[in-house]
Amino acid sequence: MSWEITVPLGGSSYRVLLTDVCLWSALDLPEFRWKRAVLVTDTRVGPLWSRPVMEWFRGRGTEVREVRVPEGEESKDFRRLPELYEPFLDFDLGRNGCVVVLGGGVVGDLGGFAAATYLRGIDLIQIPTSLLAMVDSSVGGKVGVNHGGAKNMIGAFHQPRLVVISPGFLSTLADPHLANGLAEAIKTGMIGDPDLFVLLEEKVEAVWTRDPVVIEEMVARSISVKSRIVAEDERESGVRMLLNLGHTVGHALEGATGFRLRHGEAVAIGLVAACQLSVLLGIAQPSHRDRVERVLSTHRLPTRVRGLTWESILPFLKKDKKIRDGDWTFVLTGGVGDARVLHQVPRTSVREAVAYVLD
Ligand code: NAD
Repeated sequence: MSWEITVPLGGSSYRVLLTDVCLWSALDLPEFRWKRAVLVTDTRVGPLWSRPVMEWFRGRGTEVREVRVPEGEESKDFRRLPELYEPFLDFDLGRNGCVVVLGGGVVGDLGGFAAATYLRGIDLIQIPTSLLAMVDSSVGGKVGVNHGGAKNMIGAFHQPRLVVISPGFLSTLADPHLANGLAEAIKTGMIGDPDLFVLLEEKVEAVWTRDPVVIEEMVARSISVKSRIVAEDERESGVRMLLNLGHTVGHALEGATGFRLRHGEAVAIGLVAACQLSVLLGIAQPSHRDRVERVLSTHRLPTRVRGLTWESILPFLKKDKKIRDGDWTFVLTGGVGDARVLHQVPRTSVREAVAYVLD
């Protein structure tokens, strides 16, 4: 089965194509007009998947070169950018060229930021290979790097021209990284697709054996929710904030643990904190929080964190863009499919909700 989703952004609209890599050569791609491309990947994904992807580009008449950055979150750093800009210049990548990011959210965000800033912005193609990148980061145009222990402090909005996904990439993805992506899919179900949430509750084995039919449905549903929200609010001035469900506490936990927690793990714990905050504020029933905890645990995600205190988390919480200006804004969850933004949340309730997830 193949899926095609359009992210409707007027002149910047783009397609997300979801089909197995062996069927890519048959794709009808009128947008494909790039003479040159630099493929940005990492040291784990490159050796596994660059070759078929580069051959696919060459088969479409695009000259292509590859750049690999070390795998891992540490590469999402502006000090890595010259390692990308220099090969772009060396390859004479011009405005009729493009940057192709092949990998997880790290190379997507880093390579995407390089594409957004090189020559004041050139075309970007996202080819996500981790589940997290497939269900979330490859769509929506947020690109950037971390700085000073805070996530995504330097960045831009730069929508891709095309997103191409193959569930087959997940055959080489390690299980903890699959779980990582499942946290974002669970979040997306909680925000805007109860059927997606139920799929994640019911099709656990099919997800973990990477059944392509179930994976494609999960990815397509996640992208559909995200694209609907992004289309309504491309620059996150309103409804797009909902996509941050679980992320305010999640990002703070990532920072406070020195990125020992993976992004998805931190989001999973952040989702539990958001549920508990919603319970404390009378927006959700405890049974909703318990249901969310259950699905997270079923997918091997943590729901508590060890070795942290409120005092160690607070400085990182304050770096959140939504909290920084003094208004404690949180995304809350009333039930599956019901997410809302609440301003002026009492600090004592936040502290109590965070205490709930500390082991
Ligand atoms: P990642 O890019 O580090 O990938 C995780 C690991 O999996 C890496 O070691 C990578 O080499 C490996 N990998 C990826 N695909 C593989 C494959 N097919 N086979 C084998 N190994 C593979 O991390 P991630 O979890 O994909 O993404 C996390 C990042 O995404 C965070 O920095 C987060 O802030 C960012 N993010 C961005 C957005 C956005 O909208 N831009 C949204 C959510 C998350």
